[in-house]
Amino acid sequence: MAFPSYIQPPVNILLAEFASANYQTLVDELARVPATVVRVADPKDVSAVIHENKSALILMDIEFADADDFQVVKKLRAAPGTKFIPIILLADISKNEALFFKGYEAGCVDFLFRPVKPEILRAKLSVHLDLYQRQLELQEANDVIRKQNRLLQQQAVRDGLTGLYNHIHFQELFAHQFYLAKRHDHPFALLMFDIDFFKEVNDSYGHQVGDIVLKKFAKLVQAEIRQTDIWARYGGEEFMLALPDTSEEGASNIAEKIRELISLTVFSHKGTTIQVTVSIGLSIFDSRMEHPSELIEQADHALYQAKAQGRNRVNSYEPGVKISCVPGELDENADLRCVRERLRATLDKTRASALASFEAMVHSQTRNNLSLRKRNKLAARLINAIGSRLNLPNNIIQSFHRSFKIHDLLRLFISDTTLDKDGSLDQAERAAIQDQPLMLKELTELFDFFADERAILRFHHEHYDGSGYPEGLDGYEIPMGARLFALVDAFVAMTNATYARNPKSFDEIITEIESQSSKQFDPFLVKIMLEVVREKRSLFEGCDHEDGEAQS
Ligand code: GH3
Ligand code: MG
Ligand code: MG
Repeated sequence: MAFPSYIQPPVNILLAEFASANYQTLVDELARVPATVVRVADPKDVSAVIHENKSALILMDIEFADADDFQVVKKLRAAPGTKFIPIILLADISKNEALFFKGYEAGCVDFLFRPVKPEILRAKLSVHLDLYQRQLELQEANDVIRKQNRLLQQQAVRDGLTGLYNHIHFQELFAHQFYLAKRHDHPFALLMFDIDFFKEVNDSYGHQVGDIVLKKFAKLVQAEIRQTDIWARYGGEEFMLALPDTSEEGASNIAEKIRELISLTVFSHKGTTIQVTVSIGLSIFDSRMEHPSELIEQADHALYQAKAQGRNRVNSYEPGVKISCVPGELDENADLRCVRERLRATLDKTRASALASFEAMVHSQTRNNLSLRKRNKLAARLINAIGSRLNLPNNIIQSFHRSFKIHDLLRLFISDTTLDKDGSLDQAERAAIQDQPLMLKELTELFDFFADERAILRFHHEHYDGSGYPEGLDGYEIPMGARLFALVDAFVAMTNATYARNPKSFDEIITEIESQSSKQFDPFLVKIMLEVVREKRSLFEGCDHEDGEAQS
């Protein structure tokens, strides 16, 4: 017998009957078709045997099927794995017709009458195996289509990089929430995010690293919000967070929390550590608003204000406040403030690129210098935390970060053996270390725009009680930046991170710093720093956190 060409042997056929001798002729006949015949004599075993043999067709004796009101057939029809396998019942033609109908009702596809004629057996096997095969192909095609549909649906609403809702889907969800808030007069708030100086991240570290920062940024915020909030990538490095049922106070709190979290996070990837800040514009739904775009425009307006006022801040929309400096708006009538802001942005970028050049110069040395990287991370975290506590303006905090970088780069020019040496230093070694503040001063003098950093670095070895160097300044004569720098530098130096000399435990560091309060260090700053590190102890206890993960 020939099956259709697309039915590839081996085909498994199940013969289900009570081991009667009547079936010997049929079994002999089946031996001639290109199929393997498996026999089962107990209705309880049918499902298991089918699964084991992957039967493609079932020949079933009608008494076997009717043993319990066709339950065997009905069960096979109901189960997902067997519902399409054709069942042909074998019966005597003299049987009551009503029984045949019950068989069809239960789900069999055909009958063969005993004694079975070989031609009819082959013809029916061929037809039903053919139909079954087509059924399987259809099912497979359906599965593929279903999967593709799911994927398409995902792609239609999700951003490929971050997995967040994309711009278009955000607009839809946002509009829906807007009209719900309007109808029920519920509070509703919107936050618009734009990462600060993100172009620099790409320019300094490459687009791939930029992408990683965007992904981690998306994930960090995701972990902070409610399930009912709508978190989306609006485009590039701009994100939206719609907050249904949220008051102005609630929105402002979450915005500030996220801003701080990002500013405290050290993004790291393959040994590169990066810090970014984010500016946030906040707008609040007002029942007089007619269209969702009004709320978006207000958040956008507030975001520009945040940028213009120095970045790394949250601004709420204030009616009547003119956007002070929008790129592209500079014309003959632009006011001085706008010019100054744009110059400052240019200066920031130039400074960053000079730093990047320094870093490139010593890249080969720092690349494998794990302890230096850890030290940087810990210092960055400390500076951010203290800066945030003191509400220091972002430009001052950035200045600290730059100072640390310059300081560390210079450190690499001084022999490591000198700095990491146990015991006392000889005269030349001491001179090299004592020269450090002046060398830093000279280095920063090369670049006029490092004036703030120069003041910090020149005086960071001065002591509050006047016993330091190079000038022997005391108290508030020492610039505040230098006093803070000295504290952070000392804290980091005492951890195990860089200096092999006398590594101290967290508690020992605290004790040591407290003992130097009013002597080496400014007592007010000591108090603030100890508060901050005690509150978030796990962040500051050593700096042996895993690389490759964003940490805050
Ligand atoms: P500002 O503080 O004024 O926002 O400065 P900025 O550098 O962030 O602003 P600008 O709009 O000039 O630059 C945005 C940058 O974001 C430029 C673009 O290359 C980068 N960017 C946008 N989308 C992506 C992305 O998918 N991946 C990466 N790596 N970078 C992106
Ligand atoms: Mg932007
Ligand atoms: Mg930006």
